Amino acid sequence: MDFKLSKEQLMIQSSAREFAEKYLEPVVDLIERENRIPEDIISRLAEYDFFALPYEEKYGGAGAGYDGYVLVLEQLSKVCKPVCSLISVNTLGLGAITKFGTEAQKQKYLVPCCKGEWLASFAFTEPGTGSDPKQITTTAVKKGDYFILNGTKRFISNASYKGPMVVFARDAESGKPTGFIVDKFCEGYSVSEPWDKIGLHGQILLDVYLKDVQVPAENLLGEMGHGYPILQYGIGFGKIGMSASALGGLGSALEESLKYARNKMHRDGVIAKFPTIQVKLADLAISLEAARWLTYRLGCMANDIQDQAEFIKTAALTKTFVTEAAWQASRLAVDVHGSYGLMADYKVSKSYRDAITGPIVEGVTDMQKMIIAGILLHD
Ligand SMILES: Cc1cc2nc3c(=O)[nH]c(=O)nc-3n(C[C@H](O)[C@H](O)[C@H](O)COP(=O)(O)OP(=O)(O)OC[C@H]3O[C@@H](n4cnc5c(N)ncnc54)[C@H](O)[C@@H]3O)c2cc1C
Repeated sequence: MDFKLSKEQLMIQSSAREFAEKYLEPVVDLIERENRIPEDIISRLAEYDFFALPYEEKYGGAGAGYDGYVLVLEQLSKVCKPVCSLISVNTLGLGAITKFGTEAQKQKYLVPCCKGEWLASFAFTEPGTGSDPKQITTTAVKKGDYFILNGTKRFISNASYKGPMVVFARDAESGKPTGFIVDKFCEGYSVSEPWDKIGLHGQILLDVYLKDVQVPAENLLGEMGHGYPILQYGIGFGKIGMSASALGGLGSALEESLKYARNKMHRDGVIAKFPTIQVKLADLAISLEAARWLTYRLGCMANDIQDQAEFIKTAALTKTFVTEAAWQASRLAVDVHGSYGLMADYKVSKSYRDAITGPIVEGVTDMQKMIIAGILLHD
């Protein structure tokens, strides 16, 4: 057991910190205000290999593993969580393709996505459900060398960027969910206006309409009727990113609270002297420490998955703990700041609105607990 970061891991961490300070800090307000991530940020992320971190070099990857990946997202997210979502959703889609795709699919999709020329998406949610695969209504019908897909996918991230979208549809043959890789912006693919959401401005959420979309048979992901394992396992890779970016939010909540508590004067001293403030700072530090080691462990586990169920369970419990802790931490940080914490000028108010999304996205907390209990009881 070794709780120290290696020399390489420290280098990755510091290059992400440098990136966040140099390139993200100056555009955070613009991203928030205009609800868009500037193009040059995407190309700089690619220059730093941040889309390529966990993948093998033969697919254009940086070979930094998921341990390197969590270290990077943690640092980026301390400054700008929506930028992490670009990377995390890309990894969610690519995680499924890496694990279930054919060699040809990996070559075709991983290489440009690692370069940031394309960004992957993962489309499960529909207007009727985001939690229950039995309720998905998008259909896939085999016709010659193609599958014809019809349906609507809701709240889809990265849908406005070119690249592969892992889509779950009920295929006519098995009657069960099946995974497909759809090339975004192919014929029959269209999108809605962006949803106007509470936080994570810059991360654009769209509904995706699939109208008689022809998916070549070679774009079937895994086997017919095997969408559920792809969903459960693939989304495990998304939860690594969700946890790492929530962890960054937690770190920022503690840093901002410490800064404010050391500077805000009350009578003859700073508010840091009050036990009520100290208890909050201690609670933030306790959450951060626990969340950090859970997330780092999940990253290390994802590098070499020995037991699929163990990975799915660990991803679910890590995502649950860390996103809930980050959400509570964002509230504590606002409390430390008093009314100033509610003002747009203060970083903690934006973090509060961003953090609320964590326990809901990629499976609500209750569903994560159902997954964990299901695996525990199956043993
Ligand atoms: C910022 C953001 C990004 C997103 N990105 C994507 C994306 O890229 N791809 C994608 O597919 N989706 C995406 N989503 C959608 C998101 O993952 C879903 O909205 C989420 O999983 C919850 O689904 P739902 O909203 O349909 O809730 P529902 O499934 O309708 O659940 C509503 C409530 O009912 C409870 N519930 C539902 N079923 C059960 C059950 N069987 N037992 C007990 N309780 C139950 C849930 O716990 C929840 O509290 C995104 C959402 C947001 C906000």
